[in-house]
Amino acid sequence: MRLWKLMVPVALCLALAGCFERIVEPADVFGNIRQGGNYSPASKMIDDWYAVETIDIQTFAINEPRSSQYNPPYLIVGDTQAIMFDAGSGERPAGSQSMREVAERYTDKPITLILSHFHYDHIYDAAKFEGVTLIDRPEIRANIRGGTYTISALESVDAEMPPLKVAAVIADGDVIDLGGRRLDVLNLPGHTTESVVLLDRVSNQVFTGDFIYQHLGGIIAFSPASDLQAYKANSTRLLQLTNADTLFFGAHGIPRFGRGWLILMDSELGKIVMGKPEYRYVAHYLAPGIPWRVQQNGSMYIYTTPLVDPPLFWSKWTVMVLAGLCTITLYLLYRVVFPLVVPARQKRSGTKPGY
Ligand SMILES: [Zn+2]
Repeated sequence: MRLWKLMVPVALCLALAGCFERIVEPADVFGNIRQGGNYSPASKMIDDWYAVETIDIQTFAINEPRSSQYNPPYLIVGDTQAIMFDAGSGERPAGSQSMREVAERYTDKPITLILSHFHYDHIYDAAKFEGVTLIDRPEIRANIRGGTYTISALESVDAEMPPLKVAAVIADGDVIDLGGRRLDVLNLPGHTTESVVLLDRVSNQVFTGDFIYQHLGGIIAFSPASDLQAYKANSTRLLQLTNADTLFFGAHGIPRFGRGWLILMDSELGKIVMGKPEYRYVAHYLAPGIPWRVQQNGSMYIYTTPLVDPPLFWSKWTVMVLAGLCTITLYLLYRVVFPLVVPARQKRSGTKPGY
């Protein structure tokens, strides 16, 4: 691609982004925690890239402090097997350890990989595991071919991934027995349709992926598979399944937050779905150039699509409306602006129109 072809859309996006308020910059996403720092004093660097926090003797957050995404995948261990919940941001340097190699330093049990969802910043080392256990949804089952599943570009919001061997399919409500430790599997659409949350009722821990996390980057409900109605219904469901003492572990930012954060998100989502949001339009650093709507209450930001909700925004109707607007604009340029510019040039050069 010629450089100018890339520069024109980038310049347009940046110009458009400049028109909207930027309420969160990447540099202040984590407050005092700067890129390269650790999430918590309990998180220790184990090499140049990873920092591991021992949550308890059977639970580990494997952080990537130097990644822009600040995601902590979790290793959840039982007496006979372990779960790796997510597979890395994809920003680790060449030659560094894979998420699987790091996980194997903390358990000798067989590791099953479960992805919290399919976005690019959670799946990088997925193919390094023996196979992946997928959530049982019709669209996922329909795309398992020859025992493999390929995460599409639309699902990853990036490039198509190499095919992953499917180890198993688990349904919402299933219980995974790790030997002396059981995890309830929840499929909670909202951020994405395939979003998985794991609940350990005995330890009173819940691993939430991107369904909810705590940092100033905000909750993302603008991706192609986001659904605000489902988000609200499922946040209420998660509230009902947890209690005041439950510890939450999200897939970005500082692991470990309390239920109050979920209560706040549920309340703000409630305003959105009841038709009483207090939206304003802002830029978001993850996708500059598009004026996202944000619902804000204190440090809780929920970002969603402009004008209409995500399913409609990402549908063919938006493409058709944009195509229509472009056609009208080009027509007006041709009929109104072009006749004004061309005679003026002809006048300057002294040429007369031919007949
Ligand atoms: Zn995500």
